[in-house]
Amino acid sequence: MERTRPDPIRPVETALAKKLYIKTYGCQMNVYDSARMADVLAPLGYGTTETPADADMVILNTCHIREHASEKVFSELGRLRAARAERREGGTDMIIAVAGCVAQAEGAEILRRAPEVDIVLGPQTYHRLPEMVARATWARSAKDGNRRRGAGVLDTDFPTESKFDHLPAPAGDQAVSAFLAVQEGCDKFCTFCVVPYTRGAEFSRPVAQIVAEARALVAAGAREITLLGQNVNAYHGEGPDGSEWALGRLVRHLADAVDGLVRIRYTTSHPRDMDDELIAAHAEVPQLMPFLHLPVQSGSDRVLEAMNRQHKVKLYFEIVERLRTARPDLALSSDFIVGFPGESETDFAATLKLVEEIGFAQAFSFKYSIRPGTPGAVMENQVPEAVKDERLQRLQAVLNAQQVAFNRAMIGRTLPVLFEKPGKHAGQLVGRSPYLQAVHAPAELWEIGRVVDLRIEDIGHFSLSGSRDAPVQRAIHSNPASLQEAVA
Ligand code: SAM
Ligand code: SF4
Repeated sequence: MERTRPDPIRPVETALAKKLYIKTYGCQMNVYDSARMADVLAPLGYGTTETPADADMVILNTCHIREHASEKVFSELGRLRAARAERREGGTDMIIAVAGCVAQAEGAEILRRAPEVDIVLGPQTYHRLPEMVARATWARSAKDGNRRRGAGVLDTDFPTESKFDHLPAPAGDQAVSAFLAVQEGCDKFCTFCVVPYTRGAEFSRPVAQIVAEARALVAAGAREITLLGQNVNAYHGEGPDGSEWALGRLVRHLADAVDGLVRIRYTTSHPRDMDDELIAAHAEVPQLMPFLHLPVQSGSDRVLEAMNRQHKVKLYFEIVERLRTARPDLALSSDFIVGFPGESETDFAATLKLVEEIGFAQAFSFKYSIRPGTPGAVMENQVPEAVKDERLQRLQAVLNAQQVAFNRAMIGRTLPVLFEKPGKHAGQLVGRSPYLQAVHAPAELWEIGRVVDLRIEDIGHFSLSGSRDAPVQRAIHSNPASLQEAVA
């Protein structure tokens, strides 16, 4: 199961001389990184394009979280080799870069296996892209146009200086809903996960830098900002007063200090780092949306311990209860892994029980897949593939039913929807409800970026549809308890 994310990079329609195509795999952090790479390359004359065939430079911003991640990248590189050959026949060329977590994990192996690649860069070094492009251009300047032997550019350091100190402010036309990385890396070392190895140690950006970036995003058109981090609620950045601020305080400050910012979200949180200040922010900061992605992975303490999640099921229930007391209409999402080594039928039944008892508005669920180099990969009691398949189907049946019930409970209610972009049909826009549901409605283009109260009339597979022509009813926040009943 691969997640697909909306890509907020919009083609820059200017007379810029060169075209940049970025293909983004995986999580929101990669979507954010792709947008920042485009910002870093803009001063070199690169504007973004949506087709690789037109591109003077292609960046594959890769994800290592799923199985066969590297193989997918190598097959994409095969396609790019052909696109590049065509461009060269037409008298132009293409710089090819591989970025992100596969680049970090595979490093020089990519340059060895795929000589068409000019640059391999990790997630912590993309502020140095201009220098890498200059080196790659020189390396391609041999008479035959092929890369000079040994001149592939490899930069997968974890530099001591932070890339965030060197990134330009976001510019151009920003999406209505933008991402802002506030924290990166992870020190938790769950036994299934590659992130601590590919993204490095936990790091939090200073508050002043985050506020400046949030203001720049809003000035460029963003109305909603999702604060990002591999463990976003482990945030502990330097505040303007020199003390360490946690995420709850940062959220409050952004809500007060950034004019025009109408919605705030944050992801991904770890249950162990949900503190009182953050829970209180859910009750008290109106801009903080009532939706939380809080991965639990398993409903069995035995499995959680083997995963090194460092919390028990009881803690998850306690946190959810406190959150729902603070914000009764809070909608929850989660990540689940089935078939982690040693997971018995009893452990799996405990996961199903947790799902039934908590009630999720949506969730992501995955079969455990071995990530070489992680402790889980060498555990002896691996679960057979067929068992994983069967458990995943059972879990997804329950989660899907909950999602449908949650969405169905919206019919007849009025929700404030932030319009983000045109819909599939003419005269239609798509926006998001406070609970992150996509909502389609008849509306005009100038309304993009506005929050409009919509009466929900119908639900589709993954979205809602509404209109404001129907009689307007009470806003959903006035009747939050019934939402919980819908998924319980
Ligand atoms: N930091 C977040 C947390 O602690 O919950 C999750 C980050 S991870 C990038 C996103 C999700 O991918 C995880 O929550 C987990 O469910 C899933 N995942 C990570 N490694 C996996 C593996 N080896 N097999 C299956 N799913 C995996
Ligand atoms: Fe991976 Fe665990 Fe860190 Fe999340 S907390 S990024 S799952 S190691």
